[in-house]
Amino acid sequence: MTFSTDISSEKPKEACGVFGMYSRELSGELAQRTYFGLYALQHRGQESAGIAISDGERTTAIRDMGLVSQVFEPSKLAALEDGHIALGHVRYSTTGSASWENAQPEFHGRGDVNVAVAHNGNLVNTATLREELSEEGFTFNSSSDTTFIAAAAVSELEKGHGAGEAVKLAMRRMEGAYSVAMIFRDKLVAFRDPYGFRPLCIGKVDGGYVVSSETCGLDIIGAEFVRDVRPGEVAVMDDAGLTSYQAESERSALCVFEYVYFARPDSRFDGHEIAGSRQKMGELLAEESPVEADVVIPVPDSGIMAAVGYSRGSGIPYAEGLIKNRYVGRTFIQPTDGMRQLGIRLKLNPLPSVIKGQRVVVVDDSIVRGNTSKKLVELLYEAGAKEVHMRVSSPPVTGPCYYGIDMDSPDQLIGAKFSIEEIREQIGATSLAYISVDSMVAATGQKKGNLCRACFDGEYPTTGTANKFSLETVGSSKCASVADK
Ligand code: SF4
Repeated sequence: MTFSTDISSEKPKEACGVFGMYSRELSGELAQRTYFGLYALQHRGQESAGIAISDGERTTAIRDMGLVSQVFEPSKLAALEDGHIALGHVRYSTTGSASWENAQPEFHGRGDVNVAVAHNGNLVNTATLREELSEEGFTFNSSSDTTFIAAAAVSELEKGHGAGEAVKLAMRRMEGAYSVAMIFRDKLVAFRDPYGFRPLCIGKVDGGYVVSSETCGLDIIGAEFVRDVRPGEVAVMDDAGLTSYQAESERSALCVFEYVYFARPDSRFDGHEIAGSRQKMGELLAEESPVEADVVIPVPDSGIMAAVGYSRGSGIPYAEGLIKNRYVGRTFIQPTDGMRQLGIRLKLNPLPSVIKGQRVVVVDDSIVRGNTSKKLVELLYEAGAKEVHMRVSSPPVTGPCYYGIDMDSPDQLIGAKFSIEEIREQIGATSLAYISVDSMVAATGQKKGNLCRACFDGEYPTTGTANKFSLETVGSSKCASVADK
């Protein structure tokens, strides 16, 4: 029996990572380059991985449950046929359960119109789309919303539209979050919803193009960053180069949680390095919520940058006071009941030489459910801390996310149910403070109106909602809940 692990099992889960390439010069190497691209994006999804390679006529694909390194042994990569268009995906399920059928790239076709699709995000009008597309005669094998994106594109392609125009028209039927790469015949198409909830960027490499959820996917294969795919843009890459269509006007609402936690610190959005934004959050948090203390320690790894910033902003020395076991995966053998006290120690072990007798500031990037924070505070007291001051580099999470992040039940959110003082009492900290929404936004370098902050301040950019399993029959064998993973 296995169970969920990570200290960050209580963190919200990222939806997916998307990667694509178009290059005739690199034909023969695309599978391997896509493997490395996905490797860099592994933090965005660890449930399944897949790669599709096309020569413009024939597409071969391998997808399976597991990490990129588990799915793609060398023999599997070699089994993918040569081609000049590649599509890759790593998945964490936000719509549809974790099953092979929902692994991507997803294929959809009718007659001689076929597409392969890799998607990051969450549609919020899936019920309407399912009904409309079913009326058009489409059938669906997968419970993921990606299948509707693929079918909507096929529907427009069948009417004889070119790839760019077809995707533009399909986008007008979709609501919610979608950053997508798609292979259609001899083209790689990348598009992003008008709000741009999830990131997607374009790079150049050896006579061709690369698209990646984050710039770290470009860096790893030596590609040069060109620009982000604009919200509402359809970018078509083929032998003619890059052609851009604007499907709908931009209403930019990039997810602020990407800056706080999801994206890799070495990635850049709109030219802003994520690591710098996280440090700035820590600095502003120190200004807003100072405390008399002896040492600042991070919750590794996600709290490191903010803790460095808090230390810089407060003048309190920084130290690594919690050692993380880097080899604990997402699931592992469940300890017996008698071993429950192992708890958090499987993942983190305190350094008494740093903590004992000290007034400790412990910095984390977010508190979502609160159970881990309570155990963490206990652990620090056990290690001899005199006081434990918890500082959090994002505001309390008070609402669910409908745009591709797995935290869709308000019952699970401690910030939705209790005041900050009540949370402090529950986790047992000497003091507790969160950064304000305005300071979090200021640290990103973006305008407030260009970011989605809905789970923190309740200002949802869209009216529709859809939960993770809305496309599955309740009680079906495919259903799983976050709690039992
Ligand atoms: S609701 Fe929260 S997690 Fe979801 S997109 Fe908006 S800021 Fe990001």
